[in-house]
Amino acid sequence: MTQRILIWYRNDLRVHDLRALDEAVKQKAEITPLYCFDERNFGETSFGFPKTGNYRAQFLIESVTDLRASLQKLGSNLIVRRGLPEEIIPAIAEQLNIDYVCYSQEVTAQEQRVEQRLRQALSAKNIQVKSYWEATLYMPEDLPFKIEQTPELYTNFRQQVEKKSQINQSLTAPKQLPPLPEIEPGEIPTLADFGLSIPEVDRRGVLKFKGGETEAIKRLDQYFWQQDCLQEYKETRNGMLGANYSSKFSPWLALGCISPRYINDQVIKYEQERVKNDSTYWLIFELIWRDFFRFIVAKHGNQVFKIAGMRGVEIPWKQDWQRFDLWRSGKTGYPLVDANMREIAATGFMSNRGRQNVASFLTKNLGIDWRMGAEWFESLLIDYDVCSNWGNWNYTAGVGNDARGFRYFNIAKQTKDYDPQGEYLKHWLPELASLPGDKVRAPDKLTQDEQSHYGVKLGVDYPRPVVDFFKSVKANEKIYLASSR
Ligand SMILES: Cc1cc2nc3c(=O)[nH]c(=O)nc-3n(C[C@H](O)[C@H](O)[C@H](O)COP(=O)(O)OP(=O)(O)OC[C@H]3O[C@@H](n4cnc5c(N)ncnc54)[C@H](O)[C@@H]3O)c2cc1C
Repeated sequence: MTQRILIWYRNDLRVHDLRALDEAVKQKAEITPLYCFDERNFGETSFGFPKTGNYRAQFLIESVTDLRASLQKLGSNLIVRRGLPEEIIPAIAEQLNIDYVCYSQEVTAQEQRVEQRLRQALSAKNIQVKSYWEATLYMPEDLPFKIEQTPELYTNFRQQVEKKSQINQSLTAPKQLPPLPEIEPGEIPTLADFGLSIPEVDRRGVLKFKGGETEAIKRLDQYFWQQDCLQEYKETRNGMLGANYSSKFSPWLALGCISPRYINDQVIKYEQERVKNDSTYWLIFELIWRDFFRFIVAKHGNQVFKIAGMRGVEIPWKQDWQRFDLWRSGKTGYPLVDANMREIAATGFMSNRGRQNVASFLTKNLGIDWRMGAEWFESLLIDYDVCSNWGNWNYTAGVGNDARGFRYFNIAKQTKDYDPQGEYLKHWLPELASLPGDKVRAPDKLTQDEQSHYGVKLGVDYPRPVVDFFKSVKANEKIYLASSR
């Protein structure tokens, strides 16, 4: 008898390399793909920021739109609804006489609560459920340890998986799908439906990001095959300016528009057909970080969201809104911090180098509650991934599982090393554009004569530093050390 399978799409918005879809096709099942915009994701974070800001929401809507188009091309369609998945899915499953509901499992509390409620509602209707693990390079069943024993240090994690585990080959997309059963497909909501405005396109952004599997595959094709950037990834990955210093795969990975195993297959192909070097390895090295955060968050559960972090260290963080506002609006008087904070506010993206510096400054110089920073990122980042974001914030704030003492980024040195000519700074801080490279890095050192010469008045055109760099680091180190004993 033909099985009727409902596939509940979540952060896996693609048709390639999706086990649930692949198995359903092999079984010749009747397939009903569904996406539900969960209203709870459009509320506010605990500090009052929009939980899904307009850049993220737009990228999500584009990704769902693209998925629908792909499914339609294959002969099916995507049912789209707004509301609570645990209420909507059981009702549709009953209406369509569904035998199985399949979905990709998540590892954090809010998402797991929805899964649990869905299971209960379906079991009351005698409908089966099957969950899949889809998000990582390495599958839990292929790890050389149980998730509960995931090594606390990234290096240990990486060395063990590299030595003892295999990355599966990705599955190809189906060539054809059965038509959708008789049901109203539903409209894809607009930003206005969530009370959000259409974000302005800032031409200074690194890339014109557009959501969806089609754009994800296109980006990989450009970065690997057309522009041959992969061969120098390790040398360029710490950049901040332009489309190609790093892969920019993260927004598509976060919503599952591209599978990490597909990226791995393409790296292997590139190594066979073009070149195999440290850079080709390094992209996988970085993707293993992404795996690490997912497994370590799965191990530690809700701890990652708590102020004491995965390590449980009680630091008296400040909730200083005045300084937080200077940080988030890019007005701290530290050009590297300000340029990056203006970039994320104007585009929903920031480089890894930038993220590390601004997170370090917020926590190690301003001593501000790191969760405010994590929630600000959650609201804005088009690549927001619950495990990567909260895991990295834990790590940078020094409350992560593998914290190695009080470590901070020396902003002046970082600026000199990664933006020696001040090109990135000038790109995002037009008020400093008239300054030569060495001056733009430290505008607070401008003499009165230089201020008049370059037309930049400190404290008027550009703020003076909000704190003294080394004094503030020392003060926060003292607090940190007293709390860590
Ligand atoms: C405070 C902070 C918050 C962050 N929040 C997120 C987030 O919400 N979502 C997110 O995807 N990344 C996050 N990162 C990690 C990293 O900054 C981004 O993945 C990276 O900048 C994305 O650009 P890319 O795709 O060009 O990266 P590339 O350098 O091209 O790397 C390739 C891929 O490897 C993965 N990766 C690289 N570095 C990391 C890392 N440190 N942790 C986890 N995965 C990594 C990403 O999936 C990335 O797409 C955060 C880092 C910090 C310091």
